[in-house]
Amino acid sequence: MTPMRIDDPTPAQAWKIMLEGNARFVADSPLHPNQDAARRATQSHGQAPFATVFGCADSRVAAEMIFDRGIGDLFVTRTAGQILDSSVLGTLEFGSHVLDIPLIVVLGHDSCGAVKAAMTAHASGDMPPGHLSDVVQKVTPSVLTAHRQQVTDARGIMEQHVAATVDLLPERSRLIGERLESGTLGIVGAAYDLANGTVRVVAQHGL
Ligand SMILES: [Zn+2]
Repeated sequence: MTPMRIDDPTPAQAWKIMLEGNARFVADSPLHPNQDAARRATQSHGQAPFATVFGCADSRVAAEMIFDRGIGDLFVTRTAGQILDSSVLGTLEFGSHVLDIPLIVVLGHDSCGAVKAAMTAHASGDMPPGHLSDVVQKVTPSVLTAHRQQVTDARGIMEQHVAATVDLLPERSRLIGERLESGTLGIVGAAYDLANGTVRVVAQHGL
């Protein structure tokens, strides 16, 4: 397997590489690039991933698989409902500011348990126990925004939540905002379809 070289892509080029990998995954013809022992050895000296994926922790949304990539390619952060907190922001800033990664992909998906929990809490007025309430609280603004736009289905609310998260990143993080303005970073918000494996862009900045 020839390793796929990716030298300093622009944000748009990085997204194109991601779409190409996803197309292979969807077509059930993955190349599994950069997953062999030679790649493992070269990457032990340092990493230069070309894309950050900030997605949901759902077991069915495995970043390297759905974008057909390997070791050292993707810098991945996942939380339930891809909710942001200061640790996540610090991780994303490490990716863009320290590792110089040109792309952040915010990845939501259909049938998301976090979105469903927020919808249930909104409808019933009851919060779930423990730190589950933190997840619900951070998805709820997207439920409310979607409802104001007459969007009440789970998929529509998920897409609203992805778009809101894309907007929130440069607002909450000065480092990310500066990179976006300078053109060295792009952010794509995408919705992953569990059944057919496709990703659909629902928001983008800087591409
Ligand atoms: Zn989810």
